[in-house]
Amino acid sequence: MNVTMDKLTSKDLMQMEDKHGAHNYHPLGVVLERGEGVHVWDVEGKKYYDFLSAYSAVNQGHCHPKIVDAMVEQAKTLTLTSRAFHNDALGPYEKFVTEYFGYDKVLPMNTGAEAVETAIKLCRKWGYEVKRVPENTAQIIVCDNNFHGRTTTIVSFSNDPVASKNFGPYTPGFIRIPYNDTAALEDALKNNDNVVGFLVEPIQGEAGVFVPDAGYIEKAQQLCSEAGALFIADEVQTGIARTGSLLAVCGDCSCGNTCEKDPNSYVRADILILGKAISGGAYPVSAVLADNEIMNVIKPGQHGSTFGGNPVAAKVAIAALEVVRDEELAANARRLGELFRNEMQRIIDNTDLVVKVRGRGLLNAIIVNDTEESDTAWNLCVALMENGLLAKPTHGNIIRFAPPLVMTETQLMECVAIIEKTINAFEK
Ligand SMILES: *Cc1c(COP(=O)(O)O)cnc(C)c1O
Repeated sequence: MNVTMDKLTSKDLMQMEDKHGAHNYHPLGVVLERGEGVHVWDVEGKKYYDFLSAYSAVNQGHCHPKIVDAMVEQAKTLTLTSRAFHNDALGPYEKFVTEYFGYDKVLPMNTGAEAVETAIKLCRKWGYEVKRVPENTAQIIVCDNNFHGRTTTIVSFSNDPVASKNFGPYTPGFIRIPYNDTAALEDALKNNDNVVGFLVEPIQGEAGVFVPDAGYIEKAQQLCSEAGALFIADEVQTGIARTGSLLAVCGDCSCGNTCEKDPNSYVRADILILGKAISGGAYPVSAVLADNEIMNVIKPGQHGSTFGGNPVAAKVAIAALEVVRDEELAANARRLGELFRNEMQRIIDNTDLVVKVRGRGLLNAIIVNDTEESDTAWNLCVALMENGLLAKPTHGNIIRFAPPLVMTETQLMECVAIIEKTINAFEK
């Protein structure tokens, strides 16, 4: 067989997707076939730095050997039992993950959206059975420009018309307020005993890496606690060391020497939602964590998932979380993040093309100097791709930069050089 002749090109493969796949994504024109650490390779063999990390799922780097080994080993032994029976990997995983994040219990699911749905159901049920809100009146406060996934209920409370238009009728029971606005939250909680929770991203990722003011999350949690509403943190994107601490809310973390916790400014969510990097991108794993008073309202048959808590997921998640701790990825993200923003600021000071950099840890974004409707950010990403670095606009003129957290300083500076070169060439 002539391998070179038989091998499909990037163009062939993109045409296949276009013809046979639903057009629910608009990917950059690159077809990847291999990944290792901070790098990916396309089918023509070109090497790139991955500056998206599958939306922060691959924090531990592509194909981390420890995670892959755990997955392969378990896949050869037992993959799925369903929860109709026990399996010998679930209990040890549940013990491990609850100790790791400091909660009584975990409810295992597969995707981020499922975990958000789980948190919503859990919060409502707690509202009826513990807070004693009248039946079918519970309300959950959410934020403008939120991104919590793609299910019918979740898009019901999105204000992004692309996500929600023509998918109605919408699920009721949500109040939307501005993000980063504690007065609005106070107002929404005031004299409304039917509010059972506040669902929030500690940093809005999809909205364009929008970092709230210092103290916002702390104040929000305090207001919720005073009003008897659950504080629900969606850390699907911000969690697992991405922002320079184990969790962006810096909840009751047990990351030891990787996190310099300020005891006056850390928040412990009543319900913590995790996904993406909890598996290092190897396998779909998500989790909802809460203490007994909340989690015990869910009884057999009231919620579940065929794949949730399967033995492969359990082993993969343990390995992925061990990598985060053993390789001190939170500390690395914090250190390299500061360096990266400083370097971006230096570039911004010398260009008109980019106006701002923002972010925390290695979750960052640059704002391109053009309208939200322009395709300048897209074109800049195409140019970055040509120069060996993969990133994508979040919304309009905002480009997210989120490399794997296993990056070294030397690699990061190489990436800074690519970005600088691309921006400078782009202007001419
Ligand atoms: C990605 C994401 C989700 C949805 O996760 P899926 O695995 O794509 O369903 C939910 N919340 C946040 C903050 C996310 O970034």
